[in-house]
Amino acid sequence: MSTTLFKVTRSHTAPDTLGRAVDWRTLGNCSTAPNDDLWFPEATDKATARAAITVCLSCPVLLLCRQAAADEERGDGKQSRYGIRGGLTPVQRWVADSHTQAGKGKGGRRLAPCGTNAAYDRHVRSGEQPCDPCRRAHNERNVQVRAEARHRQAAAACGTRGGYQKHRRNGEAACTPCRQANADADRRLRNTGTTTERSAA
Ligand code: SF4
Repeated sequence: MSTTLFKVTRSHTAPDTLGRAVDWRTLGNCSTAPNDDLWFPEATDKATARAAITVCLSCPVLLLCRQAAADEERGDGKQSRYGIRGGLTPVQRWVADSHTQAGKGKGGRRLAPCGTNAAYDRHVRSGEQPCDPCRRAHNERNVQVRAEARHRQAAAACGTRGGYQKHRRNGEAACTPCRQANADADRRLRNTGTTTERSAA
């Protein structure tokens, strides 16, 4: 009598137990968004561009996406770039592509790269939303400017026009040396057009 309890079958393929690399594109916030058009606004439609950028800024693959766009579009002109990618508009990506001809300004002059205060100013002049690196550079610059102003304010000694202004800012009555220094500076301004004291020749 046969004692076979199980029927043995043969498979031509081993079970697939290997992990597969996941395409980062499938992890992007835009891959599951109900409306793809958000990432392809008209050039004049700033509100839609801003909405797409807001979604990008919380995307888990933002940096991969930005790098892929930079690699694919390197050397392309402004007009050859489409849509919001990695949280950047076509113009912002074009400006950031500072290693190409397209990243140069008029007369072949190289533009300040993104991540600098000069590039932040350029974004603003162009009516664009500054990118994150530029915004950070601008904030750092503001902190530095305020610290320098505080330092100048603290350093203004009595008997100088700076000291007089410090009294005024603090809502105090200016002391005599400061009033005198301010009056002298006013007189120089009227006579010479500058408050700076010129040394005798
Ligand atoms: S960064 Fe923006 S465009 Fe890139 S994958 Fe994420 S949501 Fe999509």
